[in-house]
Amino acid sequence: MAAGNPYLLLTPGPLTTSPTVKQAMLKDWCTWDKDYNGLVQAIRQKLVALATKDADAYTAVLMQGSGSFSVESVIGSVIPKDGKLAVITNGAYGNRIVQMANVYGIPTAVIDCGEVGSVDPRQLDDLLARDAAITHVMAVHCETTTGMLNPIADLGRVAKAHGKVFIVDAMSSFGGIPFDMADWQIDFLISSANKCIQGVPGFGFIIARRDELQACKGQARSLSLDLYDQWETMERDNGKWRFTSPTHVVRAFYQALLELEAEGGIAARHERYAANQRTLVAGMKRIGFKPLLEEAHQSPIITSFVYPESSAFTFAEFYKRLKESGFVIYPGKITAADTFRIGNIGDVEPADMERLVTAITQHQFWR
Ligand SMILES: *Cc1c(COP(=O)(O)O)cnc(C)c1O
Repeated sequence: MAAGNPYLLLTPGPLTTSPTVKQAMLKDWCTWDKDYNGLVQAIRQKLVALATKDADAYTAVLMQGSGSFSVESVIGSVIPKDGKLAVITNGAYGNRIVQMANVYGIPTAVIDCGEVGSVDPRQLDDLLARDAAITHVMAVHCETTTGMLNPIADLGRVAKAHGKVFIVDAMSSFGGIPFDMADWQIDFLISSANKCIQGVPGFGFIIARRDELQACKGQARSLSLDLYDQWETMERDNGKWRFTSPTHVVRAFYQALLELEAEGGIAARHERYAANQRTLVAGMKRIGFKPLLEEAHQSPIITSFVYPESSAFTFAEFYKRLKESGFVIYPGKITAADTFRIGNIGDVEPADMERLVTAITQHQFWR
């Protein structure tokens, strides 16, 4: 277990970080000093290298705030005044995209697949054929609401066949699932510090096609969340943020990137997460729990389980007892079924999942 923590976070972020990531925060940094700005530049380069082989065509921007701030900075900066956004949603994070567009008064066309429905790219094809006003398409890669993985490569193919800009919320998947954003034809990809890179919360990042980002100058509907301005400052001033940045968090993130490399990169991390997920599901099935999703749509990031039949089961009591045993899990987030969620990401391994299942077995208070 991570030093200094009374419990493991089996949550999709903030998540369990390594002791060395936590230790990396024990120094104060000056935001405009070259030591710190050099760190920022190294992070930006490493992020692009993780995202694609075609590094010259892409660039990275870091943005203060939680992941949603970065999503909002893209929506508010990338879609022009006369633009229209198509959103494919099957959960809370997809719905949040629509909400953000509504706040900015950006017209949307929404394909709502339902909370547990899978995405059919043909629906996007039909929509784009019907509605010529749409300029941008946006989808969530791993919908953390349920743990469902969406067919981003197929959606990218459809979006590009119609000549649209393609934006992906890869918040909970980037760094934990291998893909090349150039192959998937993603123009803007959004993720954050406290998910699969295994840093601590405090900023998000956007990896963008350089030419598409350059086209966004002067378009932002928010000053603080102006993606283009943030990028331009980082480019021009070699890693300077416009406003105060979360320096300790940034230093910890750099350490987390080194640890991702040491683990063997995204492919190796993906294998560990997938092993966590398999171990968890096998153990939970053994003691009578059913996963919510079919295996074909299940991500290695987070797993939803349906409540046991017994009316004696309450999430509050379940949560409390597991916390006492050293595990913090997540409540469900859908209305279609009573579920709870267990994160498979962070500085955790299959042995931790085994220990969790043992703890759950010991706490079958509802039987
Ligand atoms: C975590 C997450 C976000 C961002 O959530 P914040 O609470 O703002 O960090 C956005 N989309 C997805 C799919 C996520 O998993």
